[in-house]
Amino acid sequence: MPITAVVEKNAYDAAMENFDLAADALELDDDVRSMIKYPERILTVVLPVRMDNGKIHCFQGFRVQHSTARGPAKGGIRYHPNVTVDEVKALATWMTWKCAVVNIPFGGGKGGVTCNPKKMSLVEIERLTRRYASAILPLIGPAQDIPAPDVYTNSQVMAWIMDTYSMTKGYPIPGVVTGKPIALGGSLGRNEATGRGVFNTLQSACEHLQIPMKGAKVVVQGFGNAGSIAAQLLDSNQACVIAVSDSKGCIYNRNGIDIPKLILHKEKTGSVVGFPASESITPEQLLSLECEILVPAALENAVQGENAPSVRAKIIAEAANGPLTPEADRILEAKGVFIIPDILCNAGGVTVSYFEWVQDEQHLFWEAQDVYNRLEHVMKTSFSDVLKIHLVHKVGMRTAANMLGISRVAEATKLRGLYP
Ligand code: NAD
Repeated sequence: MPITAVVEKNAYDAAMENFDLAADALELDDDVRSMIKYPERILTVVLPVRMDNGKIHCFQGFRVQHSTARGPAKGGIRYHPNVTVDEVKALATWMTWKCAVVNIPFGGGKGGVTCNPKKMSLVEIERLTRRYASAILPLIGPAQDIPAPDVYTNSQVMAWIMDTYSMTKGYPIPGVVTGKPIALGGSLGRNEATGRGVFNTLQSACEHLQIPMKGAKVVVQGFGNAGSIAAQLLDSNQACVIAVSDSKGCIYNRNGIDIPKLILHKEKTGSVVGFPASESITPEQLLSLECEILVPAALENAVQGENAPSVRAKIIAEAANGPLTPEADRILEAKGVFIIPDILCNAGGVTVSYFEWVQDEQHLFWEAQDVYNRLEHVMKTSFSDVLKIHLVHKVGMRTAANMLGISRVAEATKLRGLYP
C-alpha cells in the first residue's frame, strides 16, 4: 500500500515560526534577527538529462546556503518527487541551527532535486547527479559548501559528485562532500552516524526521565539509513521494537520484531512489508501505538494537528527533519510528551560528516571506535546543554535547542559585523 504524507503545513513556514519562538525567548534584537533568519543564497537549476529511452528530461534542482556565519555551508542532498524550494530552504535553515547546537564550525545548507529515483536506472541517476554537481559547482567546495547524503541519495551519489568536482578542478578533492565511500576518503562510522546519534540522545533522555531502555517499547516510522540503524541499536540494547514502517507499508508485532532479520528481509525484498511474524497495520495505527519511544525517521509533517492527539508515546526522538508541525508540538507538549528535537536528535550525521571533513583535510584517518566515542561525547554534551536551557527557561526542548543554536549564530554574526 503506497503511503503519501499529507502536507498540511509548508516546512519553511514551520521553520520560520519556530525561529521566532526562540528569537523572542532570547529577546534577540531586530537587526541581528533579520540578518540570521533568511537564507544567504538560493540557487535554482534546470537539469537536462538523457534518459535511457533516448529522450531528454529536464529536472529542477536547488542548492540553498542558509548561513555561512560560523563556517562553510553544510547539508545533504535530497532526491524526491516532493522536493520544492521551500522544503530545501527549511532544511537548510535547520542545518544552521543544528551545526551550532553541536558546536561544529559549519553553517547550514541543503540541496534537492525534484525526481523519483525509484523509477530511474542507475545510469540515469548518475547522469542526473553529474549534471546537478556541474550546475551547483560555483557554490560548492571544501571551504565553501559541503554536501552529504539525505533521503534517497547515498555514498555512491557522493562519489559521483566528488568525481565530477575533482575532474573539473583537475585534481582529487575528497573534502567537497561527506558521506563518501571509505575507499574515497569517507569516515568509518559515517553511515551509521545519524542512527547512532539518535540512540545516544535517547540514552540521555531515558536517564533524565528515568525510563529504563531495557524493555522500552519502540515504534519507528521510516526504515532507511536513520531509522534502521536507530532501531538496530535500540534492539541490541534490549529495547523492544514493536512496529516499523517504510514508504510501502507498516508492520507490527506486540512481542517485538527481530530487527537483524528485518534488515535482511528489507535488503532482499526492498521493503519491510511481508515480514514473517508480523501483522500489517495502517500508518495512522502505527503513530498511535502505545509505546515509550516513537522515532519518526521518514519525512516532514508526519505528526500534525490532526493526528497529534492520538500519539501515545512518552518520548519522541526526531530522527527525521521537521516530522512535527508547530501545532503538533503544542498538543504533544501539553500532553507531557518529551520531544528530542531534530536539530539535536539527528545531529550525529553532520557531526561525523564534520569528522570526515577533518580527516580528509588532514589526510589522516581514525579508527571506528574513536569516531563512536567522539560522537557520543558530542551528542551527550549537546543534549545536556539543551536540557539545561529547557529546565532553566521553562521552554519546550525544541525552543531550547533553537535558542542554543540561534544564540551561537547571532554571536558569530555580531562579531563578524558588516562588510562592505
Ligand atoms: P533514506 O532514504 O535512507 O530512508 C528514508 C526512509 O523513509 C525509507 O525507508 C522510506 O521508505 C521511508 N519513507 C518515505 N516516505 C515514508 C512515509 N510516508 N511513511 C513511512 N516511511 C516512509 O533516508 P534517511 O537518510 O534515513 O533520512 C530519513 C530522515 O532523516 C529525513 O528526514 C532526513 O532528512 C533525516 N536525516 C538523515 C540524515 C542522514 O545522515 N542520512 C541526517 C540527518 C537527518
